[in-house]
Amino acid sequence: MRLMLLGAPGVGKGSQATLIAKALSVPHISTGDIFRYHIANSTDLGIKAKQYIEKGSLVPDELTVEIVGDRLKQDDCKNGFILDGFPRTIQQAVFLDEILKDLNIQLDEILNITLDDRSIVNRLSGRRICPQCNFVYHIEDKPPKYDGVCDKCNTAIIQRDDDKEETIIKRLEVYHKQTVPLFEYYSDTVKLVNVESNKLFEVTTKLVFNALRLENVTLNG
Ligand SMILES: [Zn+2]
Repeated sequence: MRLMLLGAPGVGKGSQATLIAKALSVPHISTGDIFRYHIANSTDLGIKAKQYIEKGSLVPDELTVEIVGDRLKQDDCKNGFILDGFPRTIQQAVFLDEILKDLNIQLDEILNITLDDRSIVNRLSGRRICPQCNFVYHIEDKPPKYDGVCDKCNTAIIQRDDDKEETIIKRLEVYHKQTVPLFEYYSDTVKLVNVESNKLFEVTTKLVFNALRLENVTLNG
């Protein structure tokens, strides 16, 4: 299956994508991971990308598209893939269409994991992380045993800048403005499957698997 994952930041797309990819035995293609791979291995694409990232500027679409295109051309994508985090804009979607056309393939489905903005803000802004062991807490859903202190290593837990309310609201604005138009863009050509994100990760996984008709697939490890 060639699946694209869409959804606002904070709905748990990436973690679900990992499980779907495992169930389908296809690669999980996350642009973040591919960038990290190219940069860590100092490939030509990685060196180019690093120049933008180090300056704190956005990697231009052309380069992102080149990196994704390069990944989709590899052998392990022949039987399908899960595309996660790309495209984010109509312009990127137009580029992706060209890549897929060159490869003579089409997307089968778009999985949209939904959640209202208020719940996303609550979910993300309640997150706390231990800077020592990276264990993740939530002030309401998964608080540490003792207020403000990591259960595992007694370090004071912190809120990452990414999880601050104003940062989340800004990211949601960008999502609504730039990414939501993709649903209209694909409405005539790719089947859309909507699944509402549940507070419980396992419940969302079950809903996603049912929606993708993977209910009989067992996950090994
Ligand atoms: Zn800790």
